[in-house]
Amino acid sequence: MAAIRLDGAATGAAIRQEVAAQVALFGDRAPGLAVILAGDDPASGVYVRSKIRACHELGIYSEQILLPASVTTAELLRQVEALNAREDIDGILVQLPLPPAVDAAAVLLAVSPEKDVDGFHPVNLGRLVSQRPGPRPCTPAGIIQLLKRNQIPVAGREAVVVGRSDIVGKPLALLLLHEHATVTICHSRTRNLAEVCQRGELLFAAIGKPAMLDERHIRRGAVVVDVGVNALTEAAAVEKYFPGNAQRREEFERRGRTLIGDVDPRAACAVSSAFTPVPGGVGPLTIAMLMANTVAAAAARRGVELRQPVL
Ligand code: NDP
Repeated sequence: MAAIRLDGAATGAAIRQEVAAQVALFGDRAPGLAVILAGDDPASGVYVRSKIRACHELGIYSEQILLPASVTTAELLRQVEALNAREDIDGILVQLPLPPAVDAAAVLLAVSPEKDVDGFHPVNLGRLVSQRPGPRPCTPAGIIQLLKRNQIPVAGREAVVVGRSDIVGKPLALLLLHEHATVTICHSRTRNLAEVCQRGELLFAAIGKPAMLDERHIRRGAVVVDVGVNALTEAAAVEKYFPGNAQRREEFERRGRTLIGDVDPRAACAVSSAFTPVPGGVGPLTIAMLMANTVAAAAARRGVELRQPVL
């Protein structure tokens, strides 16, 4: 049977629609999100612009704070403190990575936990671990929504997460555990990775290495969620992973690159029962959940009751 493509764009759009309805509950005092972008990393610039665009579309007030790559930790801390104190700002997002000279941990720690819409503050990580209410990191939370809204059962199933970052792998493993999966976390020191991955009825790849997982890693009929975002920059690689795909070839010729995940798309298609494409899988959910977290933060700060919270 052909594998199903899990349409993250459609699920993300559905969540955004729900969030837009929630924004309307705030009347003329719309929830507000501030995004701090330090340096000139092109990918970060793209991410920040799409977050700001999503705010506009949903009626959320947004503000960008653009700082040079030479910004100091002290200056960033000042900016965060100023935003913490602002009544009209409900959510603060510090776009990562910060410039190497900056103490990123100190900056994230300075964000008020109540305005931490990324869910990265240690207080919120504690809330996540102990299953108390609080903002959940956007990408893992979006993945859970994708599974739920596509009627993919999690409870009791074997879930394998490849990657243990604080942003994706670790929180995702915790959320899956809270959904009652039996969770295995893999990383660069895991022995016999393919064998361990084969256990997964649900397989999650958050590695950052193009097409690293292939048919050796995917259990037949597994659901594969590919978080990775990598650029293919060689024509031969594009032809290898997307054979005969005119759309990919055209995109590559136009932009000199095309995106690929951490899973070989040919294997995902041939071996899984359902998989997320890259792009159009996990990416749109991350932004949708950021919007949901912003509105939830505003509701909590201002005592607005959200009839149907997204999470
Ligand atoms: P990190 O680099 O922080 O973490 C990568 C993880 O992969 C690490 O835990 C690392 O192990 C593990 N790893 C690396 N090589 C191997 C290997 N050979 N075998 C097994 N495990 C390995 O990345 P992130 O978690 O931040 O991001 C992962 C990917 O997801 C990236 O491509 C990123 O761009 C993408 N991403 C996409 C988002 C979206 O919205 N679509 C959002 C966030 C990220 P170890 O800990 O041992 O080093």
